[in-house]
Amino acid sequence: MAIGPGARRRISILGSTGSIGVSTLDVVEQLGGREAFDLVAITGNSNVELLARQAKTFGARMAVTADDARYAELKEALAGTGIEAGAGRKAIMEAAAAEAEWVMAAIVGTAGLAPTLAAARRGADIALANKECLVSAGDLFVHAVREGGGRLIPVDSEHSAIFQSLEDDQHHAIERIVLTASGGPFRTWSREQMADVTVDVAKAHPNWSMGLKISIGSASMFNKALEMIEAKHLFDLRPDQIEVIVHPQSIIHSMVGYRDGSILAQLGAPDMRTAIGYALTYPDRPQLNVERLDFAKLARLDFEAPDEVRFPALRLARTALERGGVQGAVMNAAEEVAFDAFCAGQIGFLAMADIAEEVMEAMIGYPAASSIDEVFAADAEARTSAAALVSKRIMAA
Ligand code: NAD
Ligand code: MG
Repeated sequence: MAIGPGARRRISILGSTGSIGVSTLDVVEQLGGREAFDLVAITGNSNVELLARQAKTFGARMAVTADDARYAELKEALAGTGIEAGAGRKAIMEAAAAEAEWVMAAIVGTAGLAPTLAAARRGADIALANKECLVSAGDLFVHAVREGGGRLIPVDSEHSAIFQSLEDDQHHAIERIVLTASGGPFRTWSREQMADVTVDVAKAHPNWSMGLKISIGSASMFNKALEMIEAKHLFDLRPDQIEVIVHPQSIIHSMVGYRDGSILAQLGAPDMRTAIGYALTYPDRPQLNVERLDFAKLARLDFEAPDEVRFPALRLARTALERGGVQGAVMNAAEEVAFDAFCAGQIGFLAMADIAEEVMEAMIGYPAASSIDEVFAADAEARTSAAALVSKRIMAA
């Protein structure tokens, strides 16, 4: 894409201080930095120092922390720069709704849903890293983007791979999609071995460097569970069209199988900047300084069937897909609560899936949501139930 002087592209990054956010700014820098991009807004949470540094380096107009208590610190760090400082949920919403043509949605968890929706409703193109938007709000979220008039471009590496492997006007010819999964650090472990693992052991991903939530989610395969539901909504698929295959090298990022037996795949080094760059310049491909694959060095690509007994999250995702309604939102909300409890040392690694399953079962009859507020209501109820199950486990321990 030719971005000449005077035609700076207006972009915002929600979650700029996280793993995806930092990689996005790296891509922005590679593609011309502040000469080429007008950074309308960036947002973060506790790392105010990094947020202020990013805002100054890239000449952002606005920098917002989600944490009210850090407003003074941020304002102080930006004093004399002319960059507007903001704090709190309302300010995050304002940043999300500010006039950018392209918005990277890279806040972690359900906290990203409301701001991403605000950007979508205003009509920005949404580069979607925050898969939770689709897991929780599904079709309602897709509908909001469509109504707003912007495009929805996946950033998750698997979904970017599928997006890149789709052929125009051939949706009817898609037989299946195959999501690849690295298998995480516990790919070969038994359930007994996983029972007592600590956060430090669980977060050590073999191939990707990522934020804490998604790293733990890779170990439990909850991340793949979320991605199955994400794929359904992004690509309008039936549950039986969504397959998962364990591919430990993370070189094939995912594939589309067509009715003539052809499989189209996207391959690359495990580096999120390729998917981020594609989302930023789509349908053009940017010049990026990322590692190139050397097939002679790779030598082999391995595949294994996923194990839904050792990794029950995959089974839960299939259940949520089949049941539909708010089960995705419920699974995600319960798992977020269980994840926090695991990180706090309150419950074991395996209890995360147990709690998600119990809450999903308890909320089986919950009505389907016809508005985002109803999604938030289901999310809140699932959180309350999950928190009660965490407390029960703490008392029993
Ligand atoms: P991260 O934890 O590194 O960063 C999260 C960002 O969200 C930070 O900027 C943080 O300040 C902000 N944030 C946290 N809590 C917030 C709150 N309550 N309100 C507002 N902002 C808040 O996470 P990440 O790994 O960059 O992942 C971000 C999203 O992208 C997730 O949805 C994740 O599943 C998805 N994703 C990440 C990767 C990856 O390689 N890291 C790959 C695919 C998809
Ligand atoms: Mg992924």
